[in-house]
Amino acid sequence: MTPSVGRIVHYVSHGTPPREDGTQAYTSECRAAIVTETNTSDTVGLCVLNPTGQFFNRTVTHDEDEKRGGTWHWPERVEQEPTTNPGVVDVDPAPLAAYNQARRDGQS
Ligand SMILES: [Zn+2]
Repeated sequence: MTPSVGRIVHYVSHGTPPREDGTQAYTSECRAAIVTETNTSDTVGLCVLNPTGQFFNRTVTHDEDEKRGGTWHWPERVEQEPTTNPGVVDVDPAPLAAYNQARRDGQS
């Protein structure tokens, strides 16, 4: 899929340098980013939206496989059980079907 201006992608943050014990204050993470420009060099410009601020980078490389720090990729699909989605309400279809039938019969 070819990126276009305005699409939302993931930018992979670099994370902070490792401490002596190997831990990091901030680890490399996916951040939301908006494509601001497409370049002929197979890179894109991004406006990266961090939780605490934003920054712009005009030449970000695509890396869908390794997702290294400082690259972009398409947002991962998140698996979700239908029954755990609070936005979905289990509706009894019978009243609507009766209403539609009544409309077709010209009774309302
Ligand atoms: Zn991601």
